Amino acid sequence: MELFNLKEPGERVSFAQAVKQGLGSKQGLFFPAHLPRFEDIDALLKLPLAERSSEILSRLIGSEIPRNRLDDMVATAFNFPAPLAKVEDNVYCLELFHGPTLAFKDFGARFMAQCLAELAKGEKITILTATSGDTGAAVAHAFHGLDNIQVVILYPKDKISLLQEKLFTTLGDNIHTIAIEGDFDQCQQLVKSSFDDEETRQGLHLNSANSINISRLLAQICYYFEAVAQLEQRDNLLISVPSGNFGNLTAGMFARVLGLPVQRFVASTNLNDTVPRYWRSGQWQPRATKATLSNAMDVSQPNNWPRIEALFEQGYLDKALLRTDAIDEEYTQLSMRQLAALGYISEPHAAVAYKALTRALEQGQTGIFLGTAHPAKFRDTVENVLGQPISLPPALAEVAGKEGLSLCQGADYPALKKTLFELVGE
Ligand SMILES: *Cc1c(COP(=O)(O)O)cnc(C)c1O
Repeated sequence: MELFNLKEPGERVSFAQAVKQGLGSKQGLFFPAHLPRFEDIDALLKLPLAERSSEILSRLIGSEIPRNRLDDMVATAFNFPAPLAKVEDNVYCLELFHGPTLAFKDFGARFMAQCLAELAKGEKITILTATSGDTGAAVAHAFHGLDNIQVVILYPKDKISLLQEKLFTTLGDNIHTIAIEGDFDQCQQLVKSSFDDEETRQGLHLNSANSINISRLLAQICYYFEAVAQLEQRDNLLISVPSGNFGNLTAGMFARVLGLPVQRFVASTNLNDTVPRYWRSGQWQPRATKATLSNAMDVSQPNNWPRIEALFEQGYLDKALLRTDAIDEEYTQLSMRQLAALGYISEPHAAVAYKALTRALEQGQTGIFLGTAHPAKFRDTVENVLGQPISLPPALAEVAGKEGLSLCQGADYPALKKTLFELVGE
């Protein structure tokens, strides 16, 4: 697989390089030089999840990973199901929260961990990543205990749920966590500054495991196929994606380029609506990030957006394929209550996607919204909004009583650099 840097099109890298480097120069995202179109979609959809995913990933990645290795990697990474739950007559939720940290980020993070372990054998690597909640947990669990890989996770202090925090700050060993006094965008900026600093990047063999890594995106393509595979009626399909950094949506659009029959995507955001406003006005005007109930989507400068733009610019997709919608806090809660009335308990992120889906859905269409997290991960909010108790699944119950091990510091790059070298320097 060959990829190029969207900011420096002359910079071309292999899949292995793109996975290990994360970002190209000038913080440019890597983008596939060529995306194929599959002619055997129906046959692919008949395969079981792991087998189909391995086939798709093998066609994309090519000879850099031998097929038998890839089969093992995919089987290890995708060892949990992605069921489609029927919510209403023509509306389904694709439940992506049955992995170890109960959020869809398990798919991407677990496949990425497999890729790095395979492609960087023996080399020392430091994963540095910013999280608005779920990435941290998924990355921490995916890499916990792997040889030669240290993980440092930055997250906005007091801006994620306590349970969510416990999921990744209690592991120890090769997993280091730092609470930053600031918001998620500042955490993301600190990661960018670290990568821009040659001394830090090379000295610590930095790699970013956040949603910009191409291996995570490729992994996420697979569950869009799994969603469609479970549908009996595949015409006129709308998929609503609760979006923050827009990695999830990017993967869906890649799946569409590969030939998956999707009529339209709905990019659903909360009040952090940079993309919906841009889609209406043509003006890219990020505002200060607002804290919302769907906090994993509290992102005002979505870092995967340039890849979606590239899909349109390079003629892979037509702009009419995408609809955007922003859902405010009141409607998010209303949506959770409407889902509960239909017998489906959900959490704020999926509720945003459901609301935007029902606004877009027309006669004769089938709608899928992505369930990106288990409701118990947002227990306080869900209990408050629905007025009924939510029980904790075992993975959460186990960490709830453990002590967090995080350091805490301001949103200041020189201070962070010092900490990083103390934690993981030679
Ligand atoms: C990360 C996350 C999102 C947003 O996904 P992006 O790929 O960043 O757009 C939505 N919901 C939940 C629960 C998440 O953890």
